[in-house]
Amino acid sequence: MPDKNRKLLSLVILVIALILATHAVFSFWQVNQLVRSRTQVIIESSPTPSAPQPLSPSLLQKQNKVAPSGNTAQLPRGSQTTILRTPPQENAWVDPSNYGERLTQDAFGHPISSRVTLVVLHETVISGRAAIAAFQTNRPDDLAQASYHDLILRNGTVVHLVPLEKRAFGAGNSVFYGANGPETVQTNPKLPSSVNNFSYHISLESPADGNNENATHSGYTAAEYQSLAWLIKAAGIPSNRITTHYAVDRTGTRKDPRSFDYTKLFELLVANRA
Ligand SMILES: [Zn+2]
Repeated sequence: MPDKNRKLLSLVILVIALILATHAVFSFWQVNQLVRSRTQVIIESSPTPSAPQPLSPSLLQKQNKVAPSGNTAQLPRGSQTTILRTPPQENAWVDPSNYGERLTQDAFGHPISSRVTLVVLHETVISGRAAIAAFQTNRPDDLAQASYHDLILRNGTVVHLVPLEKRAFGAGNSVFYGANGPETVQTNPKLPSSVNNFSYHISLESPADGNNENATHSGYTAAEYQSLAWLIKAAGIPSNRITTHYAVDRTGTRKDPRSFDYTKLFELLVANRA
């Protein structure tokens, strides 16, 4: 073959080789792109299943609109329903025949404490206003005298009846069994001993369906529990020194306060403790 023809043949072979090589590279790139795009489609359409992740505080805030905080332990103390607010208050002082002084010695001359250390809960049975009128009536007869320190109306209003430094006649013939045994003091030689000298008597206005002698009724309002917790907190009396007329009564005739929910009171006290 002449040299001229041999060079021409070599050039043709080189061109063909270049074309084939270019085609091969282009084909590989095309296949590669196709595989990658399909993989992406598969990944996006069916995410790999994974274990459920704990919700982050920020996500919880978005979903539940909770207050911003790191965790529940750091939530502000007291929610909208448990935070205690100063209740509306009014004075309706009772007739002086219905209360006395806190004494420093009993009927036999023995020294006694006049400190207030016990909360005794009651209910009015009759309406709050009727109870106030009864306490504002003069009672010359010792056995007929009666009073509470505070009365809480259905709307949560606190009515002050007897100053706390005075001895209200809330629970005649009564005893409180505390951690150190029975606590009761006789201050009147004509009457049985009672818890009155060291008690803070608080009464809740009964619902309309409680104006009878039934064992139960529909209970007390949220506002009544709120005001009760507020009064007890203000007095600084611990929860193991909260009792009822029913619990301290020794006559077997007192059942009040009926249908009282201790859980509602203690939830408020715990949420608002100092
Ligand atoms: Zn009572």
